[in-house]
Amino acid sequence: MKFVDKVAALGRGTLRAGYIDVLQVNLGYKCNMLCKHCHVMAGPIRTEMMDRENIDAVIRVLEENLEDNQINVLDLTGGAPELNPGFQYLVESAGALGKHVVVRSNLTIFFEKGMENLPDLYRDNRVEIIASLPYYMEENVNRVRGAGTFDKSIQALRMLNSLGYAHESTGLKLNLVYNPPGAFLPPQQDLLEAEYKRELQSKFGISFNSLYTFTNMPIGRFKDFLMRTGNAGQYLNKLASSFNPDTLEGVMCRFIVSVAWDGKLFDCDFNQVIGLSVADEYPQHIRDFNYLSLSQRQIAVGEHCYGCTAGQGST
Ligand code: SF4
Repeated sequence: MKFVDKVAALGRGTLRAGYIDVLQVNLGYKCNMLCKHCHVMAGPIRTEMMDRENIDAVIRVLEENLEDNQINVLDLTGGAPELNPGFQYLVESAGALGKHVVVRSNLTIFFEKGMENLPDLYRDNRVEIIASLPYYMEENVNRVRGAGTFDKSIQALRMLNSLGYAHESTGLKLNLVYNPPGAFLPPQQDLLEAEYKRELQSKFGISFNSLYTFTNMPIGRFKDFLMRTGNAGQYLNKLASSFNPDTLEGVMCRFIVSVAWDGKLFDCDFNQVIGLSVADEYPQHIRDFNYLSLSQRQIAVGEHCYGCTAGQGST
């Protein structure tokens, strides 16, 4: 059954936004890494990059939505968002407006030329970090993300711990992300989190706050992998047959707006990758952002949405 019909069959009509707590901004598809399962298909040769005009439009939207319960969080993603020349400017501007800034960091970016100040920038602006670490063992991480990635990630996590990240007394948040290495659903989040905490602490002395387990979406480089290995149909069926209606209330599109590197608006970054923009009747670009209209919008859904609603949910 199509996802849209599945939702309708529950008698709840269509999927609609609830409010907008988070403005998620993709600063560009360029990345220092080339991970096998990247849904954005980011990499070193990608050239898409948000320009200063659109960064200023993002800041204007944050300024215009300062009231309580109107865009409390700026969530920066990429590629490696840190590679955008306007990154520091945007982080500091959002911080000055009192917004909570979250950065999706690959951690290895800390060791690229010219990026030495990143950990201090994060600490000084109380940036929450959400970092990919597909497993707590070297072999698994390097297989998906490239040779040497695990060592650099461990070094970066230790550096962040030494700056006060994941210490109760500072409140600086450091969260990790697990993705399954193949065509299967992630294990139960709390059990895997306990395992990660035990292993990373005992082997490397590393602390973190929370582990998020994300289902691989059948789009981007992971979709290519599914096609290559002949697993696409089976994986989509698995997602659909694991549909859990209880997850619908919490899917992220209900609480965010996703801004692409060129300023176009989407319901989430998965929709951004497949070019499924917000429905025509709503503002299409960050310069035309309208909180009231977008916070009541109907979400544009597709079959990939089964990835957010399978099992325990994933957004
Ligand atoms: S893929 Fe995007 S639009 Fe679909 S349910 Fe997930 S967050 Fe919502």
